[in-house]
Amino acid sequence: MAKNTSPDCKQCRREGCKLFLKGERCLTKCAFDKRPVAPGPHATAKKKVSEYGVQLREKQKVRRAYGLLEKQFRNYYEKAAKGKESTGWALLKMLEMRLDNVVYRMGLGVSRTESRQIVNHGHITVNGKKVNIPSYQVKVGDVIAVKESKQSLEMFASLKGLKVNTPKWLEFNTDSLTGKVLALPERDDIDLGIQEHLIVEFYSR
Ligand code: SF4
Repeated sequence: MAKNTSPDCKQCRREGCKLFLKGERCLTKCAFDKRPVAPGPHATAKKKVSEYGVQLREKQKVRRAYGLLEKQFRNYYEKAAKGKESTGWALLKMLEMRLDNVVYRMGLGVSRTESRQIVNHGHITVNGKKVNIPSYQVKVGDVIAVKESKQSLEMFASLKGLKVNTPKWLEFNTDSLTGKVLALPERDDIDLGIQEHLIVEFYSR
């Protein structure tokens, strides 16, 4: 499967904000904190950004934060546009409800990339059944857990007893390594200062 090979920190510099793609390192030795300018030889030159450019950057920022390729991201947009809800919000909700994002929000992976690997490697169950599809859409009431036979792996065993801050629509018990989707996410549960209307404008051109 195709994947984004662009270096993580370069993606943050391109989008002009921290996308938190590298877990712990993003909080301690962040390349964007040290050099918060776009990559390239004319990085510091002041350029007037067109309306199109602003919309494009917002779309790219969200796409990169959730670690998706353009085609995948566009598919989400098209699905969102067909629904009855506001397209921008429907899009963000689908992104948040991806299983890899939920695993990240529960603190099982330090980044969405690591969380995706955890799912890909078959370490996660949903309602007692193994699910190894990162794009799997969770539903309210779903029980997400680390597979029992994998709970002794260092990456999970080290979480036992720790306190993790989950958004209010999720709960996660670090003793049993089991969590639950309590509700749908709300708009203020989504970070990064996303302006989803710009994404809708971008694709509506
Ligand atoms: Fe790199 Fe993380 Fe900082 Fe982004 S937020 S520049 S991925 S260290």
